[in-house]
Amino acid sequence: MKPPYGRRPTQSGTTTQGTATPSSGANRGTNRGTTLQTGTARTSPVTAGAALKRNGSSPLAGSRTSIVTNAGTNGRHSGIGMTSARTRERLVQRLRDQGIANPVVLDQIRNVPRHLFVDEALATRAYEDTALPIGLGQTISQPYVVARMTEALIEGSAPRKVLEIGTGCGYQTAVLAPLVKFVYSIERISALLERARVRFKELNIRNVHLRHGDGFQGWTAHAPYDGILMAAAPLAIPEVLFTQLAPGGRLIAPVGPEGRQQLVRITRRAEGRGEELQVETLGLVSFVPLLKGLG
Ligand code: SAH
Repeated sequence: MKPPYGRRPTQSGTTTQGTATPSSGANRGTNRGTTLQTGTARTSPVTAGAALKRNGSSPLAGSRTSIVTNAGTNGRHSGIGMTSARTRERLVQRLRDQGIANPVVLDQIRNVPRHLFVDEALATRAYEDTALPIGLGQTISQPYVVARMTEALIEGSAPRKVLEIGTGCGYQTAVLAPLVKFVYSIERISALLERARVRFKELNIRNVHLRHGDGFQGWTAHAPYDGILMAAAPLAIPEVLFTQLAPGGRLIAPVGPEGRQQLVRITRRAEGRGEELQVETLGLVSFVPLLKGLG
């Protein structure tokens, strides 16, 4: 089978497919947003561990800025009842149990007020580990998947400049932004983009640059990026994105047709270091498709 990654990558890491028991489907359902099909693995969803040393201590520890400190103190921000600190802590514990180990990432899951990114009617479900609808046929990503992708992106050393494709409601962006210097995020649906813009302002997130555009083209003006994170699944990763990835940079993306998507991490090796692209597979996922053109 032709690999979906454009160029000839070297395949390292192991797919969870080999070891996973068939998915129970419990997580798939209607919210196709970004469910990681854990198979065996509510406890250990990613068996690519050989290549993906779990990152217990983070290079960023101590340097994190909490975005909730800037978020105001009214009830909607600080959270009550189902959006309270205790509810968030339960989510953090759940992700920890599933293998998310990087404390910086867990802090972000704890601190980013996910309930502000969903419709008020869904706020009580905001700290469940599930994708939720955000309108216009799109979904907010599942916290586990956001945490997993963020962890995979910043492992070892955090990228400085990240291109995100598929801003959606901006939740993934908000989790990532305090951990890197700049996020450039593209969304094809302008109504979602504008909503995200309001959220970032409200939460005083200032290092995110937004663009209404088609992620298939990437964003040449600010390339190269140390990291690229795709929040929607292409059948094959657009070749142009590799040209926008800096040597040593990483691209995290779900790839493949509906029902058979793999989360991959592709590292562009520093120049002169063997095969140019190294691919690791991180598990089966279910994302909305990457669509061409503007919405
Ligand atoms: N991580 C986001 C969810 C993203 S859902 C969050 O936390 O909310 C995927 C998003 O990708 C959708 O908003 C969809 O409109 C967008 N998308 C799909 N194809 C795209 C493309 N070609 N360019 C930019 N955005 C795209």
